[in-house]
Amino acid sequence: MPLPLYKTPPRNCRGSFSYPSKVQVNFMSLVASPDIMYRFLIQSVVDYAIYLLTPEGIVANWNPGAQRAKGYHADEIVGQHYSVFYNDAERAAGLPEYNLEQARCTGRFEEVGSRLRKDGSAFHAHVVIDAVHDDDGRLVGFAKVTRDISERHHQELELLKAKELAEQYSQEMAKLSQFLDSVIANIPASVIVQDLESQRILLANQQAERLFGGPGTRMIGQRPADSLAPAAAEYLEQQLARGARSSKGYAAETRVDTLRGPRTLRSRTLLSQNREGQADYVLFVAEDATEELAAHAQIHHMAHHDALTGLPNRTLFHERLRQALVRGDENAKLTAALCLDLDNFKNINDSLGHAFGDKLLRALGKRLRRELREHDTLARLGGDEFAVVLTGLDGRDAACNTAQRLINAICPPFQIEGHQFTVGVSIGVAIAPDDNDQAEQLLGYADMALYEAKRNGRNRYECFNVELDVAARQRRLVETDLRTALHLGQLELHYQPVVDQQTSSVTGYEALLRWEHPTRGMVMPMDFIPIAEETGLIHELGIRALNLACQEAASWDSEQTVSVNLSPVQFKNANLVHTVALALADSGLPARRLELEITESVLLGNSEENVRTLRALKDLGVSISLDDFGTGYSSLGYLRSFPFDRIKIDKSFVHDMCDSREAMSIIRAITDLSNSLMIKTTAEGVESEEQMRRLAAEGCSHFQGYLYGRPAPASERLKEVVVIAD
Ligand SMILES: [Mg+2]
Repeated sequence: MPLPLYKTPPRNCRGSFSYPSKVQVNFMSLVASPDIMYRFLIQSVVDYAIYLLTPEGIVANWNPGAQRAKGYHADEIVGQHYSVFYNDAERAAGLPEYNLEQARCTGRFEEVGSRLRKDGSAFHAHVVIDAVHDDDGRLVGFAKVTRDISERHHQELELLKAKELAEQYSQEMAKLSQFLDSVIANIPASVIVQDLESQRILLANQQAERLFGGPGTRMIGQRPADSLAPAAAEYLEQQLARGARSSKGYAAETRVDTLRGPRTLRSRTLLSQNREGQADYVLFVAEDATEELAAHAQIHHMAHHDALTGLPNRTLFHERLRQALVRGDENAKLTAALCLDLDNFKNINDSLGHAFGDKLLRALGKRLRRELREHDTLARLGGDEFAVVLTGLDGRDAACNTAQRLINAICPPFQIEGHQFTVGVSIGVAIAPDDNDQAEQLLGYADMALYEAKRNGRNRYECFNVELDVAARQRRLVETDLRTALHLGQLELHYQPVVDQQTSSVTGYEALLRWEHPTRGMVMPMDFIPIAEETGLIHELGIRALNLACQEAASWDSEQTVSVNLSPVQFKNANLVHTVALALADSGLPARRLELEITESVLLGNSEENVRTLRALKDLGVSISLDDFGTGYSSLGYLRSFPFDRIKIDKSFVHDMCDSREAMSIIRAITDLSNSLMIKTTAEGVESEEQMRRLAAEGCSHFQGYLYGRPAPASERLKEVVVIAD
C-alpha cells in the first residue's frame, strides 16, 4: 500500500498541527493529497518511525523508518491498533489508550520507554505523539514519531557504569592514599622526599620532623638549609645529593647531631623515577640505630668481659694475646703471658661465703690493674685465675719486674666488711718469641711456670724453662699410665709390720701402694701419688687402696690392724666418710681394726671442715693416726685440735737420732707429750737395734722399719717377730 503524502501543516496555537482550510476535514482525503516533496522527505527518514494514527489509535500509514525500527511492513501494520507496540502488561493496564488520551488533552504525549518490535524483542524508544486538528479544531488523528534510542541508552548506561567505576576507583585511590599516608606517618623511620629539580622537600613524616625539624618547624616546601639546624641540614643535603648521584642508591651509617642529641642513623637514599624513566624525586629513609648499636655493644662487652670484675674474660684475653704476638713480631719486641692464681682463695670463699669472695676478687682486680700499663691486658679467666698480657717489652726482666710488682701489690692486707686478711698470689711467666710464639702454647707454658711457682712455695713467680715442659710431659705420661694401671689392676698393696715395743708382737700393718709397671718395673708411691693428687685420680686410687686393704685384712685370722694412708686431697670429697663406711661394710672388717693415716696438711687447709670429717670417721669406730709428724709445720697445737689415736714419728728423726741431739730432743718431746695425752707413738724407719733400744727408752710404744720387715704382699707379710733383741 503506497504511503499517503502531505505537506507539512503549520502548528496551531495549541501546539497541534493545523491544516489549510482548502484541505477538506476528511483526514483520509487530506493524506491522499499528493505532495511529492513531502513524501520524499518522509520516505527518506530512516532513523525515525513516523506514522499517523486515527483518533482511535489505528495505524494509518508507515514510513521506512518505522519499518526499520519495528520490523513491520506497511501492509502488515496499517489498519492495526498501535497497542501492538506495547507489551501485554502495558496493554492490560490500558497504557496505549492513556497515552493517546494524554496527547488528546494536552496536544502532545512524550516519553522514553520500552516498545516491542514485530519479533517480540523490546527496544528503547523516544516516543512523541502529537494530536492533529483541522482548522476547526477537531481532532483528526495523531502524528507519532518514534526513535530507537537503544544504542544511545546503552551508551548512557555504559557512561553511567564508567562514571560509577571512576568514582569507585577514585574512592579506592583516596583510601589507598590515606593508607599510605598512615603507613608513612607511622613507619618507625624518618622518610623524606625531595624534589630533584627545586631541591624542596615534598614529604617529611612525623619521625623526620621530630628528628630534624623540631617543634614549629615546617620542612615541607622548604630546602633543608632553609628550615633546619646547620648540622641536620648539612647531613640531609649530603645524603640526598649522594642518593641523587647514584643510580643504585646510597646507603650509610652516620653519627649525626639531631634535636634528640647525637644519634647514629642508618640511611638509604634513592632516586624515584616516573613512568618515562626520568628521575623526579629523591627518597630518603633513615632508621635510628643508636639503641640497637648500644645493645650490640653491650652484648659484645658482656661476651668479652667478666661480669664480676668488669675485666676482659678468657675470650678477649686470647684475642688480645694473639694481637700482641702479631704486633710484637712486627716491632721486634717481646710479649709476655702471665698466669696468676691466688693462694688459698678457696678457703676464704668457703669460710666467709661467695659474696665476700666476690668482693675480694673485685678489690684484687683493681689492685692488679693499677700495676699495669694502659695497653697491657689483665683478664679474669674464671674463679681465682687471672692472666696478664704484657706487650712491647724490651727484655725478659721487664716481665719479671711486673710479676714481682703484682705480688707486692697483693701483699698489704685487704679490708672487707670489717675483716682484715691477706692473700698470696703465684705467677707463672712465659715470654714470646723466646719460649713460644703461639698464643695457646705460650699460655700453656705460663701455666706450667705457675704450677712450678706453687710447688716452690707460693706467693712467688717462676719463668718458664724447657725442663718444666719435660717435667710436665713426664707428668702427663705418668697420668696416662696410671689410668691404665687403675683399669688393668696393676696396683697392689704391700704390708709393713708395726711391732709393739713391750710384747714384740706384730699388732698391725701399714698398707703401702705399689705399682707394677709393665715396662718401668716397680713404681714407688712418691713417684705417682703427687701426680694422682694433681689430676684427681687420687680419689679413685684412694678408694681402690681402702677397699683392697679392708678386704685383705678381713681375711686374716687375727686381730691385727691395717693402716691406710689418706691424701689431703681426698678430704675435698664430701663422700669420704661414706666411702670408708662402705669399705668396712663390704669387707666385713671391724672398724676397730682399721687405722687411717693423715698428714698435718689435712689440718692446715680448711681445717674446721676437715676436723669435722675426722670426727665423723672416728665415730665409725676407726682409729686416726697423725703421720710423718715433725716434718711439716710440726705444731703441737694440732694434737689439741683432734684426739689422735697415734702419732707416727717421721723416719728422718729416727735416722738422725743417734748423731743429732736435736733429733733426739724432738723425739723425746713427741713421746713425752703423747704419753701424757695417752696417745700411741709409732717410730718409722727403725733400722737398727740401737735405734730400737733408744726409742724404747724414750717411751715409744711401737716400731716400724726394716729392722722388723720390709713391706711385702699380703701373703708374704711378716706375721710374727722372730728376732727380738736383748
Ligand atoms: Mg704412712
